[in-house]
Amino acid sequence: MKDMKIKKNYDYIIVGSGFGGAMTAKNLIEKGKSVLIIERGKWPVRDDSCWDEVRLHLKDPMYRSRTPFLVDQKKGKIEEMWADDTVGGMSTLYGAVSFRMREEDFLGAPVAGTEERDSSTEWPYGYKQLTKYYKSAEKILGIAGIKEKDITEPPIAGDYLHEPSTALSRPSKKIWAASEKLGLHPFFLPMAINYSGKYGKEKCILCPTCDHYLCKIEAKNDIAVMVLPELAEKGLHILAQTRVLKINFEKKRAVSVDIVDENTGEKSTIKAKNIVAAGGALSSPHLLLASEVDILTGNKNIGRYLMRHINGVVAGVFPTKANPENVLQKQIGIPDFYHGGKTDDAYPKGPWGMIQDVSNIGKGVIKANAPMGLKNIAAMVADYLINLLCIAEDTPDYENRVFIDKNSVDEFGMPNLQVYHRYNRRDIAAREALYTEARKILKKAGALFFYNMPIETFSHGLGTCRMGKDIETSVVDQNCKVWGTDNLYVIDGSVMPSGGSVNPSLTIAALALKASEKLN
Ligand SMILES: Cc1cc2nc3c(=O)[nH]c(=O)nc-3n(C[C@H](O)[C@H](O)[C@H](O)COP(=O)(O)OP(=O)(O)OC[C@H]3O[C@@H](n4cnc5c(N)ncnc54)[C@H](O)[C@@H]3O)c2cc1C
Ligand code: SF4
Repeated sequence: MKDMKIKKNYDYIIVGSGFGGAMTAKNLIEKGKSVLIIERGKWPVRDDSCWDEVRLHLKDPMYRSRTPFLVDQKKGKIEEMWADDTVGGMSTLYGAVSFRMREEDFLGAPVAGTEERDSSTEWPYGYKQLTKYYKSAEKILGIAGIKEKDITEPPIAGDYLHEPSTALSRPSKKIWAASEKLGLHPFFLPMAINYSGKYGKEKCILCPTCDHYLCKIEAKNDIAVMVLPELAEKGLHILAQTRVLKINFEKKRAVSVDIVDENTGEKSTIKAKNIVAAGGALSSPHLLLASEVDILTGNKNIGRYLMRHINGVVAGVFPTKANPENVLQKQIGIPDFYHGGKTDDAYPKGPWGMIQDVSNIGKGVIKANAPMGLKNIAAMVADYLINLLCIAEDTPDYENRVFIDKNSVDEFGMPNLQVYHRYNRRDIAAREALYTEARKILKKAGALFFYNMPIETFSHGLGTCRMGKDIETSVVDQNCKVWGTDNLYVIDGSVMPSGGSVNPSLTIAALALKASEKLN
C-alpha cells in the first residue's frame, strides 16, 4: 500500500470499508473525488492464522472488535456480543455466497397468514432498476455462477463471467443426489471465489475453512482483495484501526467527524464536504444516534426495523465420516421452498426461504460450546455431520432496534450500542418449515439422527436506516441521503427495507453502486 498522508479536509469521508463503503468509494474515486475511508478494523494478515479457528474465534480472537454490544434477544437475558472488524468489513470472513434478490423480494416483507407483501416495506425501486448494478458488482467481485439452474433466479442478462468448481465434495454430492430423488432442484451457488486463478492471484484449493475464516491465499474475492488495494493505488486514503465516535453538524450540514486511534487513544477531528455512514446495520444507526441525528432531524426511525433473516442449521449425523477428504462443502443451494411450500395449517403461507449446504464449524469451536463432559464426544461426532443452512426472510418490526443509553459509555466515551430483537411467529414458522424439508433431504442422504441449531448472531443484520418515501416512515431517501440533512448518507445493509431470503452482500454492493453513482 502506498504511503498516505491524511489530509485535514476531504470531499467525502466514508465510515466503514465493507461492501457499502468500498463500492461507494469506488464510484467516488473514479469521479476524481478526494475520499477517506475510516475503518476501526485491522488489515487482514494473510498467514496461517487465517485458517486457525483458535486465533480467529477462541482465545483472544485476532479481529474481535474492541467494544462489545449488548443484546436482548431472550426474555430476561442481556448478552454481550462482539463483531469481527477488518478492513473489508465482514467480507473477509464471509461465506462468499453471492445472490441477487428475487424480483418479488423488492415488493416488501411477507404479511403473516397471507401470500401478500407489506407495501409499506416495498423498495423505492425494483429488481429491474438494480440489474445493471448487480451486473457491475458481480464483475468487480469476480462472482462464479451457472445461470438458469436456480429455478427462482431473477432474469440475468448475459452469463456469469466465471464458472464455479463443479467438482462436488462427497457431502455435497450426497445432498445433490438426495434432493433430486425428492424431486427438488439443486444448483451451484454463485460464489465470490477465484476458482480459476485469475487476477494474478492463487486459485482456490477448496479447503474446508472458508465461511467464518479468512482466506490465506486471497482466493476468496473479498473487498480487501478485490476492491480496496486498487482504489488505494488510485488515491483512496484508508485509515485503519480508527473509530469514528461522532459526526459534527453546522445546522443541517455534516462538517466533520471526531475520531480515535484505537491503538494510542489519540483523538482528533477531520473535515469533509460530505459524510457517508457505511458501518453496517448495527453500527451506522449507532453512530447516527451517538451524533444525535434523531434530535437534529426529528426522525423516529433511526435504528428501528432491525432484521437479520431467521437462520438456522440442521445437522444430520451419518454412520460414516462425512467429509474424509476434508474439502470445501459449501457448494449447492436448494431453492424449491423459496416462495413457500405446503399450504395446510401446519405450514406458514407466503415465502419460506433457501436451503444451502454449509461446512462444519471447527471442532475446537464445537468443543468449546459443548456442555462439560460431552466436549470430546461432540468433537468426535463433528466428523460424521452434514449440515444444511436454512435462511428465511424475517419481518421488519418497529420494536426491533439498535439504541443507545447516553449514561452507558464504552472505553472511548461513545454510548454503548444496544440491541433489542424478537422474531415473530410467522418468521419462526418459516424457519421450522425449512428445517422439516432439510431433515427430509438429510434423511434421504442417509442421516440417522438430526438436530437443529438456530443462528443467533447478527451476521445478516439489515434494515435499521431504511430507505423510503418520507421521513415519517424511513431514515434515507432512495439515493441514501438522510432525511433532514444536506449531505449525510447511509450506504450499507441498514438501508434495505426488506431482506428477501438470500444472503445479502451482493445486494448491498449493488445498491451502493447505484446510490454512489448519483453523488457529486
Ligand atoms: C461469518 C459470516 C458469513 C457470512 N456469509 C455471507 C455469505 O456467504 N454471503 C453473503 O451475502 N453475506 C454473508 N454474510 C453477511 C455479509 O458479510 C454482510 O451482510 C455484509 O458484509 C454487510 O456489509 P456492510 O457494508 O453493510 O457492512 P460491514 O461488512 O459490516 O462493514 C462495515 C464496516 O464498518 C466498520 N465500522 C463500523 N462502525 C465504525 C465506526 N464507528 N468507525 C469506523 N469503522 C466502523 C466495521 O468495522 C466494518 O468493517 C456473512 C457474515 C458473516 C459474519
Ligand atoms: S475454500 Fe478457497 S476461497 Fe475459501 S478459504 Fe479455502 S482456498 Fe480460500
